[in-house]
Amino acid sequence: MPLAGPARRALPAAAPAALAGARPVPYWLDQPGRPPPEPPLNRATVAGLAVIGGGFTGLWTALLAKERDPAADVVLLEGRAIGWAASGRNGGFCAASLTHGLANGRARFPAELAELDRLGMTNLDEIAGAITRYRIDCAAERAGELVVAVAPWQLAGLHADAEAARALGHDVQMLDSGAVQAQVASPTYLGGVWYRDTCLMLDPARLAWGLRRACLAAGVRLHERSPVRAIHREGTGLRLDTPRGSVRAVAAALGTGAYRPLLRRMRPYLVPVYDYALMTEPLSLAQRASIGWANRPGAADIGNQFHYFRLTADDRILWGGYDAVYYPGGQITAARDQRPATFQRLARQFFETFPQLAGLRFSHSWGGVIDTCARFCAFYGTAHGGQLAYAAGYTGLGVGASRFAGNVILDLLTGQPTERTELAMVRSKPVPFPPEPVRSGVIQLTRAELARADRQEGRRGRWLRALDRFGLGFDS
Ligand SMILES: Cc1cc2nc3c(=O)[nH]c(=O)nc-3n(C[C@H](O)[C@H](O)[C@H](O)COP(=O)(O)OP(=O)(O)OC[C@H]3O[C@@H](n4cnc5c(N)ncnc54)[C@H](O)[C@@H]3O)c2cc1C
Repeated sequence: MPLAGPARRALPAAAPAALAGARPVPYWLDQPGRPPPEPPLNRATVAGLAVIGGGFTGLWTALLAKERDPAADVVLLEGRAIGWAASGRNGGFCAASLTHGLANGRARFPAELAELDRLGMTNLDEIAGAITRYRIDCAAERAGELVVAVAPWQLAGLHADAEAARALGHDVQMLDSGAVQAQVASPTYLGGVWYRDTCLMLDPARLAWGLRRACLAAGVRLHERSPVRAIHREGTGLRLDTPRGSVRAVAAALGTGAYRPLLRRMRPYLVPVYDYALMTEPLSLAQRASIGWANRPGAADIGNQFHYFRLTADDRILWGGYDAVYYPGGQITAARDQRPATFQRLARQFFETFPQLAGLRFSHSWGGVIDTCARFCAFYGTAHGGQLAYAAGYTGLGVGASRFAGNVILDLLTGQPTERTELAMVRSKPVPFPPEPVRSGVIQLTRAELARADRQEGRRGRWLRALDRFGLGFDS
């Protein structure tokens, strides 16, 4: 929690007790309604479009392909279960931003910021429309996002971002410390901005399961427990091999998130970064009253190391972020989904933020992998003579942007330029990460420097300033 200097208080001792008994699984995936798995692919088949990966990127791509052409022959291959990875275990902030926030978009794509903003808002409206049209029960609320400052140095940045959003026509409400505390009651809040129209709060697992159902109803052939091991050119098409079957497809879409890309050329751009979260038990009526939060926006504080937090439909609080962990070598393992030291830290920071909730317990603790790239927003491309298209690199803001990416992937596969494919954001790539072991060294140094900047009133040292000059960064 980025509380600078004198504002830092003794950390509450309640954290360890509050964590005892927390289930070590993602809350969203641990609720009733998980669909039974579709059978693995166990034969050779053919398809017009083969989609690889059953997170939001793959699900939206498959569904949009059927919306564009109901007769399209689409098969989706998921290595484990639909929505089990980042898509089913995130904060559920479905943001309009396609650029990991306005400030990042302004820094990287200033000439097309207004267009990206417009496309992002249209995409968000279309997500809301699809949720209604397909009757997806994912507790979606257009509650917006509240961004709070918890140290004086953060106020200037907060106000600059708010002005930029306002200039683009957004419904933005500036809040002084009294007003922000009237929104969400924490003694640590010094000011805030409520972006009222740019974020839909939802239950991500139920969105993934709903999109899965919509895909099946539209005629997408869906196979779970079907990891694609390799992609080859074969004749005029592509062949995708799974352990017990194969697909011959005219075209393929790759949406495999933080996992080792099947396409070698994507690998230098992506690092898997672990992000961790806690969920509380439902608040009692008295606890709920003590915290305000009547308008229910999603919320985040604004340091380099930041927390995101939100209410669920049954009035629990999800509290995540702060530690963004890159493990040297970048292996993704189930054991790394749990990180007790981070959970302890998150719990202590939670009670520091909401001292009135002392005694509340956490019901779930989990981690997940973020597909981080050096520019913090997705990159796109094609391979195999334009017959394969991909998107990855959302860096922790892909719930909404993944649908936009599904449209970009389909546009790229047609080979015809569209307003999406002409964007500099779509045509350019991030700066690649260096290979290991330099990669680990650079990332750990950057993390340490980001934490130092938070302690030093936001002042960025020489290392961070050098990275800024080259458009490089590390985020979650
Ligand atoms: C803890 C956490 C909190 C987050 N909070 C937010 C948030 O609040 N808002 C937001 O916008 N974003 C958030 N994100 C990021 C967001 O979840 C992702 O950007 C988004 O879900 C990415 O979707 P995806 O489909 O690209 O990847 P994933 O959901 O990771 O899906 C990729 C799928 O591909 C499958 N796969 C991989 N390799 C293969 C293969 N070879 N063959 C077949 N299948 C394969 C995997 O099994 C997986 O199911 C968060 C992420 C985490 C981890």
